[in-house]
Amino acid sequence: MTIESRDDVDQYGVVGHPVAHSRSPFIHGLFARQTGERMTYRLYDVQPDDFVTTVTGFFSGGGRGLNVTIPHKPAAAAFAHTLTPRAEVARAVNTLAVEPDGSILGDNTDGAGLVRDLRSNLGIAIEGRRVLILGAGGATRGIVAPLLELGPATLAIANRTADRARVVAASFADIGAVTGCGFNDIEGRPWDLVLNATAASLGGGRPDVSPAVIGKSTICYDLAYGTELTPFLSWALAEGAAGAHLGWGMLVEQAAESFYLWRGVRPDTRAVIDVLKDWRTSS
Ligand code: NAP
Repeated sequence: MTIESRDDVDQYGVVGHPVAHSRSPFIHGLFARQTGERMTYRLYDVQPDDFVTTVTGFFSGGGRGLNVTIPHKPAAAAFAHTLTPRAEVARAVNTLAVEPDGSILGDNTDGAGLVRDLRSNLGIAIEGRRVLILGAGGATRGIVAPLLELGPATLAIANRTADRARVVAASFADIGAVTGCGFNDIEGRPWDLVLNATAASLGGGRPDVSPAVIGKSTICYDLAYGTELTPFLSWALAEGAAGAHLGWGMLVEQAAESFYLWRGVRPDTRAVIDVLKDWRTSS
């Protein structure tokens, strides 16, 4: 794929595969309109083998920044000349930006986006709470450190492939206490907060965990987003969970962090979350 240069308006976009479903152009379009920033934001569906060539072409053609999504986050971390500390620890990059000297900075805004949605938008505390993350992929790598920094009583990662959860947990041992295990070894009493960071929702499934993890005070949050509740959230509510939230707020908040990195302006996320809520309920 070649990407044309346009000198009049700063170019941004999201690179992924598949990426047609992405709401990022809509969200960044709303941010740009709200803040008066002159920019374009496009979708780039790029196969893994074409990632480096395409992204190199984008930046040499004058592009200012890219969001990066499945499956390119590790490749973007390797592509960037420098990484922010939060991208370094996650070893996954969801935002690339041109620095004043022309070099490319890699950042990871997923964790900041999740934490802001949980605490500021939904009023969910992490401090002193027992928090369970399901999944040990790129999204989990981005959210572990920001969650640990808030001082949960316990943070556990459980994954279908248990070894992967143990490896991810061990890689954050310097930051705080976090354990890794398989689904069958999760402590079988209700957790305060259960985050579904598996990709199961994308295929219409749910992680196969015991209902013992859900209690009447448990809040469940699925990082996935869609117009309907995911199978995980429907199951959690049927098991008596106190609350169920889709990842729309995280999506908007991580986008706002990227926008701030690129433009130095912080958009009003509440207004954009409300627009998306109206769109979802009317679709
Ligand atoms: P990833 O790197 O591909 O990791 C996938 C994870 O899901 C692995 O832990 C995998 O387990 C697990 N998994 C896949 N299918 C499963 C199933 N049927 N049952 C149980 N576990 C399953 O993906 P990712 O980048 O971490 O993304 C994960 C989710 O987060 C996606 O839904 C994505 O859309 C969402 N996300 C949302 C935001 C947002 O802003 N809201 C941001 C980032 C990601 P194994 O290791 O056993 O294969």
